[in-house]
Amino acid sequence: MTTMPTQTDTNTLNSYNPSTGEIVGSVPITPVAQIDSIIAKAHAALPAWQALSAQERADMLKPAGKILEERAEELGKLLSLEQGKPISEGIGEVKGCAARMDWESQEVANAVQPEILKSNGIESTIYYDGYGVCATITPWNFPMLMAHWTIVPALVAGNTVVCKPSEQTPLIADEYVKILNQFLPEGVLQIIHGEDDQGKALVAGDVNMIAFTGSKNAGQHIMASAAKGLKRLVLELGSKDPLVVLEGADLDKAAEYGVRNALRNCGQVCVSTERIYVQDSIKDQFVDKLKAQVAEFKVADCHEESARIGPMVMREQKEHVLGQIKDAIDKGAKVVMGNEPMDGNFVAPTLLDNCNHDMDIMVVETFGPVVCVQSVSSADEAVKLANDTEYGLGAVVFGEEQLARKVGRQLTAGMIGVNKAIGGASGTPWVGARHSGFSYHSGPMGHRQFCQVRVISTNDE
Ligand code: NAD
Repeated sequence: MTTMPTQTDTNTLNSYNPSTGEIVGSVPITPVAQIDSIIAKAHAALPAWQALSAQERADMLKPAGKILEERAEELGKLLSLEQGKPISEGIGEVKGCAARMDWESQEVANAVQPEILKSNGIESTIYYDGYGVCATITPWNFPMLMAHWTIVPALVAGNTVVCKPSEQTPLIADEYVKILNQFLPEGVLQIIHGEDDQGKALVAGDVNMIAFTGSKNAGQHIMASAAKGLKRLVLELGSKDPLVVLEGADLDKAAEYGVRNALRNCGQVCVSTERIYVQDSIKDQFVDKLKAQVAEFKVADCHEESARIGPMVMREQKEHVLGQIKDAIDKGAKVVMGNEPMDGNFVAPTLLDNCNHDMDIMVVETFGPVVCVQSVSSADEAVKLANDTEYGLGAVVFGEEQLARKVGRQLTAGMIGVNKAIGGASGTPWVGARHSGFSYHSGPMGHRQFCQVRVISTNDE
């Protein structure tokens, strides 16, 4: 594995294949000094964009889904090359965005229709207007989906958008924006490239709203910077999601879910299973099942058909994960499998038993391919430990149905799965609690987070 050069030289942002260190492509860096004029262009595009109805805006975006679908194979390969996930998953991410473009644009258009309330001789109309210019800032782990998730509601709700994708995955975000721009008026959707400095300048600029998906630290920085202008915020941040496994659970299903959700995308998922709490009486049996599942995960370059997971996106991420594994072992964790050294950015899927909350790996976000098990004596202890975190994006419990539902209601995350993954029914929001987020997106409730609510009241004659 070659040591990767720095991500940027003076005016070019290179994107590297994390499997090989080779350059996949590059984009021009947006000079920080130009960002204010880009934001000004977004303001200039606002009046005409807001003069359209939400339905007209949604209808403009919908054909972009067809192009994404037609180009899914080519774009999926590009996505995988710069991010590292198996190509089938890269294609799946593009196809997912393609499919969402139609129904999600429509869902936003429906969610922002005015509502009328009447009482005591008063008629009030609630309007959902765009805020103005929305900055969307996104991470690298789902580099198209994360952009799509905030750009589509922002646009259809009547905002113009300046987006700043991750410096690790600029190419696929650039393609996504180019495709949408085939159907949008000039200035409605713009993209800027660079590292944190570009993101900071965008947040500090004359934007009305910021929709950010990324780490807690960057989210806190953004919140502080946004405070000056009381800018509206949607922050989707990191997590440390627990899985609770109780007596009476279907252990095969729980093990399959737990391992898949811990290792998917090399553990680089905001709702990865990062901690497993299992009752003493079933622990050994459950760990054997986890072991069998982990053995299924072949690590390889995204091109290999047998690859279940690829490399970590960057060297620093690998060092962080290996540091946490070492800290856990030093403090008494038992390596059940994995932890063999691997070249380059690759990390062997690792199963650790005897974990506890003195270890970083049980309290600080890992974002890597590690399955961590701690045994508990009761459901109450599992709840206490699962909630012993500053985070709260997702949480899952497997157990006898009635007890599992009761335990699920005691968990403090924003999205909780009972005997299933966290994914909700259509229309539910993507919402983090505590330090995993501030406001939320998706579903009709989430779409309205991109809107200024205005109420006009008249006499109801
Ligand atoms: P990151 O915070 O390092 O970077 C995300 C984006 O913010 C990048 O585009 C980066 O350039 C920009 N940025 C960084 N500092 C900034 C600042 N001070 N001001 C403005 N912009 C700034 O995150 P990452 O490493 O790209 O992504 C991984 C993190 O994202 C993990 O913590 C993960 O849990 C989180 N995540 C959360 C969700 C969710 O839905 N809650 C989804 C995906 C990822």
